[in-house]
Amino acid sequence: MAADAGQGGAGPLYGRVALIGLGLIASSMAHAMRAAGLCRHIAGHAPSAATRAVARELFCDSVHDTAAGAAAGADLVVLAVPVGAMGAVAAAIAPALTPGATVTDVGSVKQAVVAAVAPHVPPGVHFIPGHPIAGTEHSGPRSGFATLFRNRWWLLTPLPGTDPAALARLRALCEGMGANVDAMDPAHHDLVLAVTSHVPHLIAYTMVGVADDLRRVTDSEVIRYSAAGFRDFTRIAASDPVMWRDVFLTNKDATLDILGRFTEELFALQRAIRLGDGPHLHAYFTRTRAIRRGIIEAGQDTAAPDFGRAAAAAGGEGVPQAVALPGQRR
Ligand code: NAP
Repeated sequence: MAADAGQGGAGPLYGRVALIGLGLIASSMAHAMRAAGLCRHIAGHAPSAATRAVARELFCDSVHDTAAGAAAGADLVVLAVPVGAMGAVAAAIAPALTPGATVTDVGSVKQAVVAAVAPHVPPGVHFIPGHPIAGTEHSGPRSGFATLFRNRWWLLTPLPGTDPAALARLRALCEGMGANVDAMDPAHHDLVLAVTSHVPHLIAYTMVGVADDLRRVTDSEVIRYSAAGFRDFTRIAASDPVMWRDVFLTNKDATLDILGRFTEELFALQRAIRLGDGPHLHAYFTRTRAIRRGIIEAGQDTAAPDFGRAAAAAGGEGVPQAVALPGQRR
């Protein structure tokens, strides 16, 4: 089935879009696509009847008991399930895919998704992996909202030989939902995200675990006196356990690489503290402060005091947030 409207706001980019998985990312896409008139019909599937009922009520035009039922006749199929489930879902929808259709995904890891999904994609169907760098610590079909992707990056990792027209159409969809689009190699994506998101999450999980142990000793002091840094860690550490389990299981090499470097740096700082090496600590913190300034100058966070808390309603994968203060537009 071919969409009969062009790109650039002239009308819907796709006829039928099938969302497989109906959680935070899929429901946000549905709200955003509907708000911008980017497609004609949103079909959906999730395994649980409870999720399907919410999707039917809130954002899907049709809801299906099977993934193949949702994917049948779709111009665009979006795999929005945990990374570890991508392969099985791709196998399930493969017989229903129509030649000329595009399959994309929103998984937080790209090499593992390519390896799991690509073998199931039939000839004549375009597979263009993707990853919106946007999210919150909430999950499920009620957690989505239309502005989640606004001013955030959506990374596409097209494979060699990708059809330029299919890529341009998907890019236009992401942009239509308010995202900035960039393309990169899947391996590079996984390394970048290990630095900006995956290892920071692991550190947050660890720090909250340490504080939880401490709380048993000091009663509720950790919670009562929790400062901004720790509160931010608890927000990140509240993210969906299945999603993050799969991220670490499937982005193993890059995560271990960056974690190794992190541990070395930590030991260097530990040594400087033990030796009372003030110049080392000062030089290190001066360098990191400059990095923070760079993030603000790049428009990926605000310079608001109190860690931008007043403006930061939503976080996402532990990466810098593009949030606007009241009365301030980015
Ligand atoms: P979510 O809110 O937890 O929703 C996951 C959805 O996948 C649910 O509808 C769930 O169905 C469905 N699902 C789970 N296992 C499945 C299976 N084996 N087969 C079919 N459907 C299955 O998750 P999300 O935050 O939207 O994340 C979805 C994807 O986006 C993940 O790959 C994640 O890595 C990626 N991502 C997440 C974020 C973020 O910050 N959350 C950001 C960018 C990308 P039920 O409701 O029936 O259980």
